[in-house]
Amino acid sequence: MFTLRDHFIQDIKASGPISLETYMTRALTDPAHGYYLTRQPFGQASASGGDFTTAPEISQMFGELIGAWCADLWHRMGQPKRFCLAELGPGRGTLMADVLRAASVLPEFSAAVQVHFVEVSPALKDLQAEKVPDAIWHQAVTSLPDLPMIVLANEFFDALPIQQFRKTEQGWHEIMVGQQQDALCFVDGPLLETAQLPAQNLPNVEPGDIIETCAASDAVVKSLADKLQTQGGAALIIDYGYRLAAAGDSFQALHQHQFVEPLEAPGHADLTAHVNFQSLKESALQAGLIGTEIINQGDFLAALGLDIRAASLIQATPEKAGQIGSERDRLAAPDQMGHLFKVLAIASPDCPPLAGFAP
Ligand code: SAH
Repeated sequence: MFTLRDHFIQDIKASGPISLETYMTRALTDPAHGYYLTRQPFGQASASGGDFTTAPEISQMFGELIGAWCADLWHRMGQPKRFCLAELGPGRGTLMADVLRAASVLPEFSAAVQVHFVEVSPALKDLQAEKVPDAIWHQAVTSLPDLPMIVLANEFFDALPIQQFRKTEQGWHEIMVGQQQDALCFVDGPLLETAQLPAQNLPNVEPGDIIETCAASDAVVKSLADKLQTQGGAALIIDYGYRLAAAGDSFQALHQHQFVEPLEAPGHADLTAHVNFQSLKESALQAGLIGTEIINQGDFLAALGLDIRAASLIQATPEKAGQIGSERDRLAAPDQMGHLFKVLAIASPDCPPLAGFAP
């Protein structure tokens, strides 16, 4: 069978190395072979299958707290009679189902909400439709409706394609994907002219260092900014990543919960990069939005009442106390998701204060 890897090798032999951005885009979203279009990525390591798991799949508490965050924001926004609750990359639809259930304590919220999903994967759309049948699907942020907005993006930005650049004694090169004896490999592209250098102002970059940029993320933030500026509201971004831009190679591949070589089997492994939160925030500020501090997921969930929620679930189901406690720790403990995952909200200038962040 002619695999995506064979296609890459054929194309590289014909036209030369390709950028990492092209490689990642095709490996993840090629209509015939792309990872997100052909595979079922989610699952627990202990259970059957899947390549990775995410916070909403670990525990209902994650979505419930974010549901309370949404209901609170909608209330502070003046309880608009109709508003758009959008999610970027909703996976199996678990987060949104938990959000809607938790927020349904406010019947007026449930009457006013219109759910919109931005999703590229037809297989995942089917799963999302089982959990949230009334949702409306989009290929991109640009077609979201003209309504007040609350936007959620959990582990969405890490899936967007990056470019990498390496500094050498001579100057900067883009890191490309080439081939050698029918295997894919990283190669340095030609020395870049000053005008082609990535717009990154990094202190202390030494020869040998790698920096990453993600034009696709900045474009999504700009599209969100257009919507939020005119319609009002906020977007909550949660992902693994770093608060301050720094040199480093974070390109990685996961297959069946193990790290694998990212050029080994394109289309079969999930490819991601850590999210540069500082760059997302700067794009938002440049587009006229306001941005919160970039905080740890553990602190955000604690501020929203994770411990109280866990205690009340334990009271309702004491036989599950051990499981609920370990789910709480997975979400918030510093050595689990609590520190690696960061939270940033970007909002229209007139947006009311956002729960979970310092005022
Ligand atoms: N938010 C979910 C899923 C995270 S996985 C959770 O927390 O469980 C990434 C999600 O983004 C998947 O739904 C994937 O299909 C979607 N996705 C990846 N690239 C995308 C793109 N370029 N545009 C829209 N959706 C994308």
